[in-house]
Amino acid sequence: MKNRLKVGTVVLLFILTLCHSLPVQAEEETGDKDKMGLYKKTEAVTQIPWYYLAAIDKYESNTQKETASDKLISITISNELWYGAGNTGLHPAEEQIAVFNGFGRDGNGDGLAEHTNDEDILFTMASWINRSGNNREDIKIAIWKYYQRELSVQTIMNIAKIYKKFGTITLKDRDFPLPMNANFSYRNTWGDARGFGGRRIHEGTDIFANYGVPVKATTYGVVEMKGWNRYGGWRIGIRDPNSNYHYYAHLNGYQDGIKVGDVVEPGTVIGSVGATGYGPPGTSGKFPPHLHYGMYKDNGYSEWSFDPYPYLKNWERTARNKK
Ligand SMILES: [Zn+2]
Repeated sequence: MKNRLKVGTVVLLFILTLCHSLPVQAEEETGDKDKMGLYKKTEAVTQIPWYYLAAIDKYESNTQKETASDKLISITISNELWYGAGNTGLHPAEEQIAVFNGFGRDGNGDGLAEHTNDEDILFTMASWINRSGNNREDIKIAIWKYYQRELSVQTIMNIAKIYKKFGTITLKDRDFPLPMNANFSYRNTWGDARGFGGRRIHEGTDIFANYGVPVKATTYGVVEMKGWNRYGGWRIGIRDPNSNYHYYAHLNGYQDGIKVGDVVEPGTVIGSVGATGYGPPGTSGKFPPHLHYGMYKDNGYSEWSFDPYPYLKNWERTARNKK
């Protein structure tokens, strides 16, 4: 398997060298196809729409460092839930698990509810959700019961919304937040001291540009937050399928009609560059106009900011090559 991957990588690199702009990652696409097959198969037998199963799976993969390489599905159900409390034998016989009120179910028809089998895991999760029902609200309640964390529920529901809208889990496009034909400049300011509002560290990249330059979504995502903030001015926050939160601040204004809950894609105009913030609502012009762009990661327990600069550089390069 390792050798095959290596050969695959060499071949892929060769192809990439030949065709500089080839945007696909062949290995991952194959995995996505297999996953989609499994989500849809599970939907057919449980009536839980595939995009909720895919969203839970994606959310769990975002909270883990890595999924075991021989596994397709990242959902991990604890021994206690799977086998039932007090079931110390950990035997995968479905009837035995049922005696202990475990969740574990047999999805692939071999009579065993195997804790590490992709089909069994997905079928178990879908069956458990189905106990609450299979409409959107039922599913949301089941996800809440399972994770018992507001941000987890919201992120999963948002990922499901994105997958449903685009009909796929393969969403690899990205965009730079400003158009390539605009004048802009930015440098790596990660961790710089901020002049106003105390000794906070600067968490993001400032992209300087003129008032009114359109600001675009960089990723697929759902608008999670919109409104005024004393430091950020008019700002907007978008959650992507990787559980990253993208924060766009100091906007001059918003694109007409954009609201919390909207699905966006790379390139969707969300507002324009401004200099709002550092005061009560409407305050503007206390600093040169720029887009403050921040990125935050959620691992299922806590959220932290990370440096967006290398991502911006990468997206800018890709956007320039597109022309
Ligand atoms: Zn900034």
